[in-house]
Amino acid sequence: MGRTRLFCVLCFNDDKTGFNRVIRTHKELIACHDCGHVYNLPDVAAGEQLECVHCGNVIMTRHRNWESKVAALTATGLVLFVVANSFPFLGLEQAGQIQSSNLISGVQALLGREEFILAALVFITIFLFPLLELMGLAYLLIFRYAGVRAPFLGQVLHLLHISRPWSMLEIFLIGVLVSSIKLAGMALLIPGPGLYAFLGLVLVLISCHLFLDREEIWDWLDPDNYYANDLGEHLNACRCCDALIGDSLLELDSQCPRCGTSVHRRWPSSVQKTWALLIAAALLYIPSNILPIMRTTNLGYTVEDTIFSGVLHLAEAGDLPIALLIFIASIVIPLAKLIVMAYLLLSVSHLGTREPRQLAIMFRVTEFVGRWSMIDVFVVSILVALVQFGLLANVEPGAALLCFAGVVVLTMLAAETFDSKLIWDAYASSKESYAASSEVA
Ligand SMILES: [Zn+2]
Ligand SMILES: [Zn+2]
Repeated sequence: MGRTRLFCVLCFNDDKTGFNRVIRTHKELIACHDCGHVYNLPDVAAGEQLECVHCGNVIMTRHRNWESKVAALTATGLVLFVVANSFPFLGLEQAGQIQSSNLISGVQALLGREEFILAALVFITIFLFPLLELMGLAYLLIFRYAGVRAPFLGQVLHLLHISRPWSMLEIFLIGVLVSSIKLAGMALLIPGPGLYAFLGLVLVLISCHLFLDREEIWDWLDPDNYYANDLGEHLNACRCCDALIGDSLLELDSQCPRCGTSVHRRWPSSVQKTWALLIAAALLYIPSNILPIMRTTNLGYTVEDTIFSGVLHLAEAGDLPIALLIFIASIVIPLAKLIVMAYLLLSVSHLGTREPRQLAIMFRVTEFVGRWSMIDVFVVSILVALVQFGLLANVEPGAALLCFAGVVVLTMLAAETFDSKLIWDAYASSKESYAASSEVA
């Protein structure tokens, strides 16, 4: 018996929403998030990377047996997380007294001094986000192995996407190293089992993010990755799930039909928001370098250190590599980030550019290194937790610490708010005005 499919006249011709005639399908296409160019997706073998020909951004990396690798790493990571937080982390012995700390002693020490914002920042970056990442990965992989599209899998993938820059275990590890060198002359350091577990945890979490194939999971959760009214229209990529959404649909609803994340052709008021965050960071940069960041008492003698005098003391003590590391992370990087972001904003709104690729690389480097400035915040929190020997030796946080943490967070948010596709718009308009001026000549 023949069967004819009937289309409802009211729904199919309803142009008020536009959604009734949406093309919703899977296409072997992929977009670069940095510059917005869309490519036909070739076959990518395991171990290969796809690089954007325009801006040099790595769009995709495939790994062999990524699921079993990430599953083994996540299970190991969860065990290491429990060990790192349950056993002593670092001990300090001075004149027969022993001060022991665990991983989040710095948070407790800051809470005890009513430094609530700093305590929250350290707690989020070294405990909450890493734990959420591990639990999220475990949830994801359990259902992926079971072949069940469980609820909230999309939200978990979204969480893994946004939490990555704010999960800072590897930076905390460098903070531990710097603190150990600062304390080496003052007292005897006793590494605990928690520290060794923490070392392993850092490596495990980095590897998990390296191997995790988000594109494959999204394709499994919802194979449709192409939404448009017209096959020829301009496409915009969702930053979370890589779905491609036509301009005409974004005019009606800015939410990604696949994952619910906001998608825009250009992020609204990106330049204004980035300027606001950058100016606030620049204002905080001044007190963070003038005020003391740390107050140290040793044998009844108290010294207040600014970031720069701390660097000088390290250099005088002969710890030149560490002095250089702190100088770069705490003074050079925040200042360079302020200058580079201001230059990028001026380029996209006023100056224009003939070298978009260089600007795109500058932006990516700035975005990557910005979070490493948190080293000094972690160093002070570790020292405050560890060095509590009364008049004999004592470390207290200074007023600059909160300002400095503010600089790091605000510059990170400024980089997240900046729409890098504006660089390519500036390039296109510079090219047009150059062509127009050559025609006139
Ligand atoms: Zn690109
Ligand atoms: Zn999406």
